[in-house]
Amino acid sequence: MELKKNQEILLTIEDFTKEGEGLGKYQGFPLFVKDTVIGDVAKVSVTKLKKNYGYARLVEIIEPSPDRVIPPCPVARQCGGCKIQQLSYEKQKEFKWNQVANCMKRIGGFADIESKMEPVYGMEEPWHYRNKAQFPIGKDKEGNLVAGFYAGRTHSIVPNTNCLIQAKVNQQILETVLSYMKANHISSYDETSHTGLVRHVLTRVGFTTGEIMVCLILNGKKEQLKNVSALINELKTIPGMTSIIVNTNKEKTNKILGPVCQTLWGKDYIEDYIGNVRYQIGPLSFFQVNPSQTKVLYSKALEYADLKGQEVVWDLYCGIGTISLFLAQKAKQVYGVEIIKEAIDDARNNARINEMDNVTFYVGKAEEIVPAQYEKTGIRPDVIVVDPPRKGCEASLLHTMTQMQPERIVYVSCDPGTLARDCKILCEEGYEIKKVAVVDQFSHSVHVESVVLLSKSSFTINEK
Ligand code: SAH
Repeated sequence: MELKKNQEILLTIEDFTKEGEGLGKYQGFPLFVKDTVIGDVAKVSVTKLKKNYGYARLVEIIEPSPDRVIPPCPVARQCGGCKIQQLSYEKQKEFKWNQVANCMKRIGGFADIESKMEPVYGMEEPWHYRNKAQFPIGKDKEGNLVAGFYAGRTHSIVPNTNCLIQAKVNQQILETVLSYMKANHISSYDETSHTGLVRHVLTRVGFTTGEIMVCLILNGKKEQLKNVSALINELKTIPGMTSIIVNTNKEKTNKILGPVCQTLWGKDYIEDYIGNVRYQIGPLSFFQVNPSQTKVLYSKALEYADLKGQEVVWDLYCGIGTISLFLAQKAKQVYGVEIIKEAIDDARNNARINEMDNVTFYVGKAEEIVPAQYEKTGIRPDVIVVDPPRKGCEASLLHTMTQMQPERIVYVSCDPGTLARDCKILCEEGYEIKKVAVVDQFSHSVHVESVVLLSKSSFTINEK
């Protein structure tokens, strides 16, 4: 077979990778093609060839797959955000459910996992679900000021003030900022020369409270925003506007936010609820970006934890204490552990404003805090909840957990691969999987969130 770069060929897409790329075979040679879905027959152009596989770019759909939809966003293909908008939402949900099932089987060795899996929890309305957006500000080829998103794998801005997965109010906020910048000759930041002022506009919206925060990230100080009262006066007219902030980031870095914030107008934070729990959210706070599906996810975790009121619970990798406070409504005592000090400051503050005094937070690594506390107090928790980052839990932490012998372990995961790996270890050490729920938190992206209930196995008596 002779394939060359830039060669155009006809390809039938037969598979879909976990990154959301279609996979087709040309005379047995696998080619990955972004923007395609299983069942598409497409004209593609070869972009890169490796020894055993290659990449191609979609040129034209010849015969669309029955699962294909027309992406409602006009820049869905260029933008690096939504990778699978071309796949119908029904199929997106199926894709995510299958991801979990396949990882559990292949990596975890759980052959009959499907029998434990609940139907996928999708969104009623898979649009405008995000409460946080970070728009880079820059110039297009003609030198016009633009706001939008980075194109996939690059830092060139795809202009778009009307992102369909973000809160609708962002459009008005961005248009207001851009016209203020134009009228007052305020420059946008240029990454290559490290000059110019406005780097990003960050917005946060409290979906329950309606409160809005706008944060301008500057390569400089707030005093450099000439005639800033004009901007404030405009933004203030947007219903719900609660907080207008400047964040200074003078570093040559991909990190969006710098450490220092100054409030220009209103409060330093906005508030929002997940269920009955109230949270204060500043520009730097980590807060779940899809609050309504987060409620679904945490309610599942709470259901699986099966608390009656007398339990001692650990919440490991607790962030700003979102799950801890949710559990504390039903537990006797909750202990939260998180590595980032600022997140724990937020967590303690959130416990205080909700008047919850049965939660204690520790700053540190879960794999160090938990064994140390267990050694010191000897207290065995009834339930342990973990919600680790994508790399999953340290093996040593999993061993400590099984030694403590909680009745139930609830594993909240954002990566089915490491979830399956860790569940395998837990099951080798005396636990068994009872239930699995997949919750779609990020429609049109390939991110998969799930929660697993493990209980002490009825067959193994753990004598270690
Ligand atoms: N449960 C929280 C956040 C989960 S994200 C929520 O639902 O909002 C995972 C968290 O684990 C992050 O906040 C990260 O800072 C933290 N983390 C990463 N490694 C850790 C470790 N070794 N020990 C404790 N926390 C850790």
